[in-house]
Amino acid sequence: MDDKLDAIVVGAGPAGVTAARALANAGLATVVLERGQYPGAKNVWGGILYRQPTEEMLPGFETEAPLERPIIEQRYLLLAEDAMLGATYRTQAFAEPPFNAYSVLRAEFDRWHATTAEAAGAEVYPEFTVVDLLWDDGQVVGVTTGEPDGELEAHCVVLADGANSLLAQKVGLHNEWAPIEQALVAKELIALPSGTIEDRFNLPSGLGTALEIFGESTWGLLGYGFIYTNKDTLSLGTGALLEDLIRTGINVNDMLDRFKRHPAIAPMIEGGETVEYSAHLIPEGGYNRMPQVYADGVLVVGDAAGFVNPLNREGVNLAMLSGKLAAQTIAAAKERGDFSAATLSRYRELLDDSIVIKDLYKIRNVTDFAHARPHLLRDYPELLSRIAREYLTVDSVAKKDKQATIARMLRDVPKRRLLGDALGALRTLR
Ligand SMILES: Cc1cc2nc3c(=O)[nH]c(=O)nc-3n(C[C@H](O)[C@H](O)[C@H](O)COP(=O)(O)OP(=O)(O)OC[C@H]3O[C@@H](n4cnc5c(N)ncnc54)[C@H](O)[C@@H]3O)c2cc1C
Repeated sequence: MDDKLDAIVVGAGPAGVTAARALANAGLATVVLERGQYPGAKNVWGGILYRQPTEEMLPGFETEAPLERPIIEQRYLLLAEDAMLGATYRTQAFAEPPFNAYSVLRAEFDRWHATTAEAAGAEVYPEFTVVDLLWDDGQVVGVTTGEPDGELEAHCVVLADGANSLLAQKVGLHNEWAPIEQALVAKELIALPSGTIEDRFNLPSGLGTALEIFGESTWGLLGYGFIYTNKDTLSLGTGALLEDLIRTGINVNDMLDRFKRHPAIAPMIEGGETVEYSAHLIPEGGYNRMPQVYADGVLVVGDAAGFVNPLNREGVNLAMLSGKLAAQTIAAAKERGDFSAATLSRYRELLDDSIVIKDLYKIRNVTDFAHARPHLLRDYPELLSRIAREYLTVDSVAKKDKQATIARMLRDVPKRRLLGDALGALRTLR
């Protein structure tokens, strides 16, 4: 017997709390250290939470978790300079239980989520920032807050400290993310009466929509803008690959202001009051740039390991699943009494068998494909807008002549480029 903790989890986001809950449920002595004033205090954004993966982690969560609106509809929109076009998918299947997804406000959700780990027996301590790890003969054996009495020892440490994990860098598992491996997003929470939200977005009472908006929303850079409807607020944001922001000198706050002023967006938020602002990094290195996720006495989960699928807007579900798999690995390591990298490498095997790695592998080339084609989000929205305007404008021009004008517009796009983009997209998403 020893008096060491079994596990210390750094960070009370979805990955850390899921790991802590699963560890505590397996009977392991677990402590979570969170730098925020309370879990969620540093995660002020609102986003989309998928029901089925969350239900798998937390059966019955819908009756207890603070949720905003069931999402019944997805809109994909392209913004040109003064126009908007796009596609909407709304189905009655998403408008009835079991719902597909909910909008959530992370500050509230994370705070509640942490109580589920506490109920399982984990101890959660906010206002503790871990600044370094403790080592013994090359093995991580604990953490320190840098205070004289701030050292805590455990058999295993779970790094769930989110994007830009300084601690994973200290372990030498990865270098600082390069600008091409992360996106910077600026986001606002805009208050509007719930009835106004329902009228403006054509929603049945209490139900919600998610808008993903490409093109002018990011000044044509690789990224997207979004609007998610909450009960009486909108989560509105925009962001792009850090590398492109640096290259173009575009400031993400200016991008957000420009997005809000667009003639197709401004009426959606008119009269709304901005009640919260935040900016955050999203790791986008994906499978090709994934760091090593285990070492002697330590595992890396969630954003800290780069588990984000930007194409399908999935981060929370992958974070939770990786937390669960890390806990499973640690519980097995405890049975063996061996927390070496060799034993903890089981975590990577479990990840490989899960949708975390299967999905990240599938989209592994998407960022590089799109990044190599800056015209995709810059030129095509404008072209499609001009085509739509020509087609939809009713005047005295004969339809045959309109058709010829549209054909000329398409001919102006170099054929090799069009073909290369289409074939490249098919190959990348195959
Ligand atoms: C604007 C934006 C919108 C997004 N929208 C969606 C969406 O709609 N759906 C979706 O699924 N995903 C979305 N994501 C991605 C999602 O937020 C992340 O993938 C997810 O939060 C990762 O969870 P995590 O627990 O790994 O990290 P985080 O949620 O980042 O949690 C990390 C925690 O660690 C704490 N911490 C950090 N360092 C320390 C330290 N040294 N000591 C103690 N505590 C520390 C932080 O305070 C934080 O609480 C979005 C991301 C952003 C930025």
